[in-house]
Amino acid sequence: MIMAAPQIDRAEPEAPRDCPLCPRLVAFRGQNHAAHPDWFNGAVPSFGNASAELLIVGLAPGLRGANRTGRPFLGDYAGELLYRTLLKAGLAEGTHDPAGPEALSLVNCMISNAVRCVPPANKPEPREIANCRRFLAARLATLPDLRVLLALGRIAHDATLDALDLKRRDYPFAHGARHELGGLILFDSYHCSRQNTNTGRLTQAMFEQVFAEITTALKR
Ligand code: SF4
Repeated sequence: MIMAAPQIDRAEPEAPRDCPLCPRLVAFRGQNHAAHPDWFNGAVPSFGNASAELLIVGLAPGLRGANRTGRPFLGDYAGELLYRTLLKAGLAEGTHDPAGPEALSLVNCMISNAVRCVPPANKPEPREIANCRRFLAARLATLPDLRVLLALGRIAHDATLDALDLKRRDYPFAHGARHELGGLILFDSYHCSRQNTNTGRLTQAMFEQVFAEITTALKR
């Protein structure tokens, strides 16, 4: 029997929680649901303001972070560092508390992921990144005030360029880089994962410096 291809509205910026497009990730969501039925275990929606001027693009939900809580970066080490840094930069207000997410709101920014479902070992496959591009592209297209992007890591950087139909070779990833993309500015940072901070590849000071440049760009 020939199965019909799953139908997803190409202009929709958020995936349905049970998005069927990546069989490996659908199976992984199912495994996680069986093991942890109280976790979110779905395609994690973007979080933040519809009128945001800044969009932060991460890689994918962390297993015990966004995949558990249903909010990008909330509940794991990377989120601890990201939300703390956003608070310090004035891009969030309130209190960062994974047990009480309503205590924190973002200011003039939104956080999303290049891949909306948690991948095994934090490694999405190229086909999965390509599948999820439709949601990132629509997300970019539906933020009317968007001026600045921050890509956390090379995969997010490449996915963002692909979603904007720009050539990767024209905008090589580098920590601290600033790329002019027509009417948008793209900043790059190493991903704020524990692996990168444990190895010293990314320090808190390096991360805060990227946000200092972003807040300066937002003021112009
Ligand atoms: S990663 Fe994206 S495209 Fe793939 S199943 Fe999840 S939401 Fe759908």
